[in-house]
Amino acid sequence: MRKTSKDKRDIYYRLAKEEGWRARSAFKLLHLDQQFGIFKGVTRAVDLCAAPGSWSQVLVKKLRSRPTSDLSEVKIVAVDLQAMAPLPGLIQIVGDITKEETAQALIKEFKDSAAQLVVCDGAPDVTGLHDIDEFIQAQLLLAAFNITTHVLAPAGTFVAKVFRGKDVSLLLSQLQLFFGCVNIAKPRSSRSTSIEAFVVCQNYKPLPDYKPTMHNPLLNLSYDDKWISEGANKFVSPFLASGDLQPFDSLRSCTTEQHSPVLDACTEERSRPLPKSSACPAPSLTVPT
Ligand code: SAM
Repeated sequence: MRKTSKDKRDIYYRLAKEEGWRARSAFKLLHLDQQFGIFKGVTRAVDLCAAPGSWSQVLVKKLRSRPTSDLSEVKIVAVDLQAMAPLPGLIQIVGDITKEETAQALIKEFKDSAAQLVVCDGAPDVTGLHDIDEFIQAQLLLAAFNITTHVLAPAGTFVAKVFRGKDVSLLLSQLQLFFGCVNIAKPRSSRSTSIEAFVVCQNYKPLPDYKPTMHNPLLNLSYDDKWISEGANKFVSPFLASGDLQPFDSLRSCTTEQHSPVLDACTEERSRPLPKSSACPAPSLTVPT
């Protein structure tokens, strides 16, 4: 896509050119790190929806250039629909993160040693139809999160782009089921005209008997009974995408004889206190002044 003169005036666009970043987005990850220290102690990381690769560049720089880095310990895997120019030490998977075969290829990479950081800057091609765009963005987030439950080590960090909409508080509450510390931030390099923001989820600690699965609602937003599974999984509410193409059936939610298992479980979920984080204040929207 040709850059407009507005892009060229943008300070981060120009800085990215000067400093050799493939996209101005690099600064968003760098600014999130300044605010949350997301690279601390990280040697294994995943970059979902990575092309053209500026976040991967940041990961390579931060993880491989420390004076103390043992390069044999460092592993960075990037995934995107498009292939990107190689980077030192970066493993690339070309594929769709919403497809199980892509997820499995990534899970295989971290089978022996889990990642400590998963980042996702995924964005679909915008259609201009707001509900559809928000829905597709939510699908990417769900796919990214579901992959994360398979590859992230306890105490690990998940960072993902979200569109700030009316369902953000619900999303934060749901993520709090899995992480000790959940925040949503708008780094100063993210254009104020954009509705994007980033969830920064730290201290991964799923409920003790939660079993990551490829066949759960985080990946498949169908409001049927399949998502209610065994053990801790039954407490995890299905993620609701704004503009969902399959909204609740009003008849199912109103009849007393035919309970909706989704609604029943959501009621149970709502009455359960959210895990409190000692290390983290309540989720907040951090917008620079
Ligand atoms: N973080 C990147 C960087 O710094 O260079 C920029 C990412 S760009 C905003 C969004 C990327 O999401 C695109 O490269 C696109 O191909 C990718 N993407 C969108 N849908 C995807 C999907 N289903 N699976 C994998 N990648 C996807």
